[in-house]
Amino acid sequence: MRVSSLKSVADLQADGLVAPDAALDKVAEKYVIGITPAVLELIDRGDPDDPIARQFVPTADELNTTPDERADPIGDLAHSPVDGIVHRYPDRVLLKAVHVCPVYCRFCFRREMVGPQGLGTLSAPALDAAIDYIDNHREIWEVILTGGDPLVLSPRRLRDLMERLAGIEHVKVVRFHTRVPVVEPERINEAMVAALTASGKTTYLAVHANHPRELTDAAKAGFDLMLAGGIALISQSVLLKGVNDDVETLAALMRGFVENRIRPYYLHHPDLAPGTGHFRVGIEEGQRLVQALRGRISGLCQPVYVLDIPGGYGKADIGAASITGADGCFTVRDWQGGEHKYPPT
Ligand code: SF4
Repeated sequence: MRVSSLKSVADLQADGLVAPDAALDKVAEKYVIGITPAVLELIDRGDPDDPIARQFVPTADELNTTPDERADPIGDLAHSPVDGIVHRYPDRVLLKAVHVCPVYCRFCFRREMVGPQGLGTLSAPALDAAIDYIDNHREIWEVILTGGDPLVLSPRRLRDLMERLAGIEHVKVVRFHTRVPVVEPERINEAMVAALTASGKTTYLAVHANHPRELTDAAKAGFDLMLAGGIALISQSVLLKGVNDDVETLAALMRGFVENRIRPYYLHHPDLAPGTGHFRVGIEEGQRLVQALRGRISGLCQPVYVLDIPGGYGKADIGAASITGADGCFTVRDWQGGEHKYPPT
């Protein structure tokens, strides 16, 4: 296996993943590139539509922006009282200590904030201020470490951070959102698991994966280590055109999560990030897919289909369009599209 990541158009050309193309140089000027050796291994070079390559190899499509796309599609900045904190809902905050990732997803909702040209890593004084903010807000029950990818931090730095959260009594749950177990599984070792649990709080980790092929044996070994270390695992995926926008792929992905003791959690409708229109499916299509999943696979395997409402208004469950009506008179749609009165008449 290759030992270093691909980080430039020249690297991609040298590896045979792209042909020389001036448009790609323009893409690379705007959006950082990163493909780890583990992801490279997964790419099927014989398939021009490979769903793994599609997530990580840049294309000229990224130069096409639409009027409704925006640099901060889910409105983080509108809810950021201090650097590194997003306080959108009363009982929880995002803590974004780092805006670096091991890979750079071409559909990333924070693509304007991550990478070397992005918001960087919180300085020591800024991290102090973020921790103070959490300490001073007793309503904060859960701290969600996201970014960027918090697991790019060394176990020593993560442990330091967790030990600071340990001293905040009202914080009961710490949750990590990360691509690392899938794209750089070698980082998940006993030192990392010890660091992730060093707060002594209940620890959740949301594994970001979008295609069942990402659940490799190496990733599974990391899941096992984390589960053995007392970390509860949940999933997050993005519904992506050309990657997982068919019911067979989604079913295999959700089953793969459950088989690995990862509880399916979020299936995100893709956000309005600049230059990502080629990944977006229609909401009606997304609803059709999640309805089809209901009929096909176990209730354990059902994710919540969510839209982050542009402007920072938070998440809405948009898969729940199976019931309409009011005043005690509803119509419920079953997984095959049949409509039923409730209560029955
Ligand atoms: S790992 Fe997450 S934050 Fe990083 S590029 Fe991918 S989607 Fe964006």
